[in-house]
Amino acid sequence: LQDKARKPDWLKRELPGGDAYTGIKSKLRELKLATVCEEAKCPNLGECWKGGEGHAATATIMLMGDTCTRGCRFCAVKTSRAPPPLDPNEPENTAKAVAAWGIEYVVLTSVDRDDLPDYGAAHIAATIRHLKEQTAGRLLVEALVPDFQGRRECVDLVARSGLDVFAHNVETVERLQGVVRDRRAGWAQSLGVLAAAKQAGARVTKTSIMLGCGETPDEVVQTLKTLRRYDVDVVTLGQYMRPTKRHMAVAEYVTPEAFEAYQKIAEGMGFLYAASGPMVRSSYRAGEFFLKNMLR
Ligand code: SF4
Ligand code: SF4
Repeated sequence: LQDKARKPDWLKRELPGGDAYTGIKSKLRELKLATVCEEAKCPNLGECWKGGEGHAATATIMLMGDTCTRGCRFCAVKTSRAPPPLDPNEPENTAKAVAAWGIEYVVLTSVDRDDLPDYGAAHIAATIRHLKEQTAGRLLVEALVPDFQGRRECVDLVARSGLDVFAHNVETVERLQGVVRDRRAGWAQSLGVLAAAKQAGARVTKTSIMLGCGETPDEVVQTLKTLRRYDVDVVTLGQYMRPTKRHMAVAEYVTPEAFEAYQKIAEGMGFLYAASGPMVRSSYRAGEFFLKNMLR
C-alpha cells in the first residue's frame, strides 16, 4: 500500500459503516451487482450512494469482466491478452439489478477489451438501452468508455445508445501520456474520441485528469484549455493514489488549495461543470452536474 506516513491528512477519510450501509451491501449481494465503489474501497462511497444535499444517489458498475487487455501504470485491474468471453446476459441482468436497486444516476465503466472486434462497444450500448428501458428513462446513465482504439463506428454506437453523459478519461497531461497510460492509449486518440462522441450527438462529454503524476501547473491549465477547444463539457480533477508498490509512484500530493484554484480556472473557461479536489474520482457526485445544469 501507499506509504501512509507520507500521506497528508486531507487524504485520510474513514470508510463508511453502520446499519444503512450494511443493508445496501446485502441487497447488492442479492442482486449480484459488483460495484467499483466497493471493489476499489472508494472513500466517497457513503456520500455517493446516499445522494441528497444537491446530488443524485450514484454508483459505478464495471462491465465486461474484471480483466483488462491493457496495463496502465496507475491501475490495479488485472491484465491478460485474452480475458474470458463476455457474458451475453450481462446487459440485461445489470439493467434489471440497477433498476431494482433504485439509484438515480449510474456510471457504467469497463475494462478495455482490445481482444474483441468492436472492443465491447455493442455490449456497452446494449446495457445502456436496457437500463433506460427498465427504468422508463428515469435513471441517468453515464458511460465511462475505452478509446475503442479510436474507431469512429464504435464511438458512434455508444454515443447514440441513449446515454446522458459520454465520458472518456484523458487521465493526464499530454507530456505524461506515455508514462502513465498503456502504450495503446494516447492524447490525440482520446481527444478524438471525445470530439467524435459530440459530433455523434452525445449531449454531454466528460473527462478526468489525475494530478500528482509529475505534471506542472501550467500543463494542467493548458490541458483544460485544450479540452474546452474539443468541446468537452465536464471535467474532474483528483489526486493520483498509488494502488500498490508495483505501480507508478506518486510524484506529488497536490494541496486542496491548488485543487480549488484549478476548479475556479476550469469554471472560468466555460466548462458546464468542474469538480476538483484531492478525493475527487471521475464518478464522484456525478449526478450533481445534472441537478445543477440540466434538470432545473
Ligand atoms: Fe462509487 Fe465513484 Fe462515488 Fe467512488 S466516487 S463511491 S467509485 S460513484
Ligand atoms: Fe485500468 Fe482502464 Fe488502463 Fe485497463 S485501460 S489498465 S482498466 S485504466
